[in-house]
Amino acid sequence: MAAKKKIAIMTSGGDSPGMNGFVRACVRMAIHLGCDPYCIYEGYEGLVRGGNLIRKMEWHDVRGWLSEGGTLIGTARCMAFYERAGRLAAARNLISEGIDALIICGGDGSLTGADRFRAEWPSLIKELEDNGEFTAQQLEPYRHLNIVGLVGSIDNDLSGTDATIGCYSALARICHAVDLIEATASSHSRAFVIEVMGRHCGWLALMAGVATGADFIFIPEKPRADNWREEMCSIVEHHRKLGKRKTIVIIAEGALDREGNKITPTMVKDLLADKNGLGLDTRITTLGHVQRGGTAVAYDRMLATLQGVEAVKAVLEATPDTPTWVIAINENKIVRKPLMQAVQDTKRVAKAIENQDFDLAMSLRDSEFSEQYKSFMMTTAVQLNKDLLLPEKERMRIGFINVGAPAGGMNAAVRAGVAYCLSRGHEPIAIYNGFAGFARHHGDKPLGAVRNFDWLEVDGWASKGGSEIGTNRELPSESGMETVANLIEHYQFDALFLIGGFEAFHAVSQLRKARDQYPSLCIPITLLPATISNNVPGTEYSLGSDTCLNELVEYCDKIKQSASATRRRVFVIETQGGRSGYVATLGGLGVGASAVYTPEEGVSLEMLAADVRHLKEVFAQDKGQSRAGRLILINEKASKVYNARLIAEILREEAHGRFESREAIPGHMQQGGVPSPMDRCRAVRLAIRCIQHLEQYGRNVHNRVKTDPMSATVIGIRGASVVFTPITKVEEDETDWPNRRPKSAFWTEMKEIVDILGGRPSHTAPE
Ligand code: ATP
Repeated sequence: MAAKKKIAIMTSGGDSPGMNGFVRACVRMAIHLGCDPYCIYEGYEGLVRGGNLIRKMEWHDVRGWLSEGGTLIGTARCMAFYERAGRLAAARNLISEGIDALIICGGDGSLTGADRFRAEWPSLIKELEDNGEFTAQQLEPYRHLNIVGLVGSIDNDLSGTDATIGCYSALARICHAVDLIEATASSHSRAFVIEVMGRHCGWLALMAGVATGADFIFIPEKPRADNWREEMCSIVEHHRKLGKRKTIVIIAEGALDREGNKITPTMVKDLLADKNGLGLDTRITTLGHVQRGGTAVAYDRMLATLQGVEAVKAVLEATPDTPTWVIAINENKIVRKPLMQAVQDTKRVAKAIENQDFDLAMSLRDSEFSEQYKSFMMTTAVQLNKDLLLPEKERMRIGFINVGAPAGGMNAAVRAGVAYCLSRGHEPIAIYNGFAGFARHHGDKPLGAVRNFDWLEVDGWASKGGSEIGTNRELPSESGMETVANLIEHYQFDALFLIGGFEAFHAVSQLRKARDQYPSLCIPITLLPATISNNVPGTEYSLGSDTCLNELVEYCDKIKQSASATRRRVFVIETQGGRSGYVATLGGLGVGASAVYTPEEGVSLEMLAADVRHLKEVFAQDKGQSRAGRLILINEKASKVYNARLIAEILREEAHGRFESREAIPGHMQQGGVPSPMDRCRAVRLAIRCIQHLEQYGRNVHNRVKTDPMSATVIGIRGASVVFTPITKVEEDETDWPNRRPKSAFWTEMKEIVDILGGRPSHTAPE
């Protein structure tokens, strides 16, 4: 039998939220796959010093780590590792412990160090042999150093990955702070200049600008034109003239002008406050280290966990010929990329900024970055850039309608769509309260349900939860297809933009099918999925699902704490999600659930019995050293019989006093208050894409629309791409209509990971 692989796990560089989730995932996955995990404490310092800074980890050592901030195995800046002598000591320590693989989570510096270590490894081994510390035979198993990198950094500064572990948590802290500042800014009609982290990378500043609807941003990669002072002042003045009472300018630490000179918050403040200019009462807020702090948001927990699992797999699959991987994410897909390339591209960004080659710097960031930059510019300088206007005959009347339950990001999507329309000369028109509102208000109050948007009002919607134009579940068939078709004709809509969940999807399908009967429906229609359940076919992500997971994870963290503080307790938590187990599964991934029950799998007596047995064992092993509570998540429709209460009662009965159990139902809290930054940013990007898709058609294209499958579509994130799919294809091939969800759940593998990392015994799903 081959010797057990010993895998070392390390965090390095600045701490970032999610690093503990990464360690937990690696430790448990390694054990699950028959390896021995070791943690290296204090980053490279631990590797160089060895001794008790390299420790073997057990399954229970990482219990509860998902909900802890920072990194529990420590991190440090290590000068010794920059020197060959330090790296030689590190090699000696690894070999002495018998460790043959290393997984590192850190920033670009840490990964550069890792790459250097790997490249130098053969010569380090040779030196250890030459100086007689190890024999050739002893060194034989260590000829090749197996390294895998993960990017843990709040700056999101590594090329090749869309997100780094921790960046969305930092963004959440920033947006929360900006939301708070906005209230006071509005009250006093003040301007605020807010400085955020990012020496070489403007991702945090850019996304915070997009998510909060800031007036102006400064980022290192894209210095504004030489006349940035005039540009900023004219945009702020324009907004003030429209009636805006607050001004928010977000500036990255590393902001520069085109000559490479630093732009400081004080310079910006002085400009806004200049009595001969705008004369605004202006304050500076530097957010500083609060941006790093706290527990990870749901997305970072997911990213850290899935990437940790992938890293262990990559280590086990590596041969001396495979490149050294960094685990990345592109849109919704975890991918392996050559570490060297990613590090080199990242360094090229810094170099390009230094050389003032800003176009190159922007092109080396991922494509989302420049797309979001354009989105930001378009939504802040609405109607100021006359070059964007389309010729009169190409301008369209576009109806906006929300369908289904409210979801985080709906308002941000409407805001971005409206801004884009106004920039292009289209007429964006609000249809209030879904199809029900559309149809009901016709007749005596024809204008009540259909109104042109007022930009000043819409501009304030970037961070608002709920649905400002109202939403309703009613389908067009229920409202009366003929009425809907007549109204579309009456209002001369050239296109329809729907935002909503499964009902909205169903509505698009009905409208398309009714085109033969009602020619007025032969207009381009597109759907931007928005529902906390994330059950819309044609996409792996719906607006609002990230907000929901954050709420759920926060709720579960609190419940878990109470469970731990009182006595041995299991909480059975009922989640929303309709007949899709996405929310329960991803929630379970974020909190480290002991079991998750989904409608896709159902619940059986055998499953319950196995889970009861498992919990008994777990609590028996605890021996009082830990009173940690346990969580089980069950989707509201997982079973007709076994609901949260019944499962809690079964557990209590079967536990015979060894532990107790309670049920908890967070209910509508899961819709969330303020939408998450991810939902807001994606709302902006996807909404603009939707209007761009619609505007390709132009006006009076009834005949073309009738035969073009792309004229009724759903936009979606699928794997590594954002795509429009014809509704005809999705409704026929991909929709499980009776269960109102996609036929195949892309997250099935994640469910397996929750079970593995929760230590759940394998079980058979009911027939
Ligand atoms: P952050 O993004 O938070 O700055 P980082 O990983 O980039 O994280 P650094 O301080 O640059 O943080 O690097 C962390 C550690 O990695 C350093 O203290 C050093 O031990 C090691 N390291 C960085 N660059 C190199 C290098 N070129 N050669 C060897 N070791 C390095």
